[in-house]
Amino acid sequence: MKKCFSNKMEMTFSAQSVNEGFARVCVASFCLQMNPSLDEISDIKTAVSEAVTNAVVHAYPNKKGVIKLACEISGNDVTIEISDTGIGIEDIEKAREPFFTTKPSEERSGMGFAVMEGFMDEVIVKKGEGGKGTTVVLKKHIEESCQQLVGE
Ligand code: ATP
Ligand code: MG
Repeated sequence: MKKCFSNKMEMTFSAQSVNEGFARVCVASFCLQMNPSLDEISDIKTAVSEAVTNAVVHAYPNKKGVIKLACEISGNDVTIEISDTGIGIEDIEKAREPFFTTKPSEERSGMGFAVMEGFMDEVIVKKGEGGKGTTVVLKKHIEESCQQLVGE
């Protein structure tokens, strides 16, 4: 029987803004095996960028921390999980509302989650493992992907 192609990767990096671009490019490069369109790859990069930026900017005020990124491909679907073990989000529903920000003084527009939602098929925001920090799950279906079939 033919099996759906699957693949996964995980990485951990310091919560520093210099790693935002690095994480975005890593995910984009991993997703290339799904044959995404330029628009799809750009959507994924934008959403990953917003989620990683949030962990860099909000998760660890006044201390160092790490961000874990896990990416899983299953057939034509990709799931990207960005987690931190920082301060967490008190009211997740409110945080997801457009224009809501806890850092207006830093000229943040509060549009990060709205952008993620606009570019991905599904965005899940939850408390991290053990109730610590934040985990953001981004899901996207890649159209017309040349599905690689293995296990025949
Ligand atoms: P923008 O993304 O437009 O620069 P923003 O980061 O404030 O502004 P969102 O990305 O929508 O806006 O996030 C909304 C709010 O959710 C943030 O202001 C912050 O309070 C909270 N938040 C988001 N991600 C995290 C996180 N990883 N840890 C702690 N708080 C977070
Ligand atoms: Mg943001």
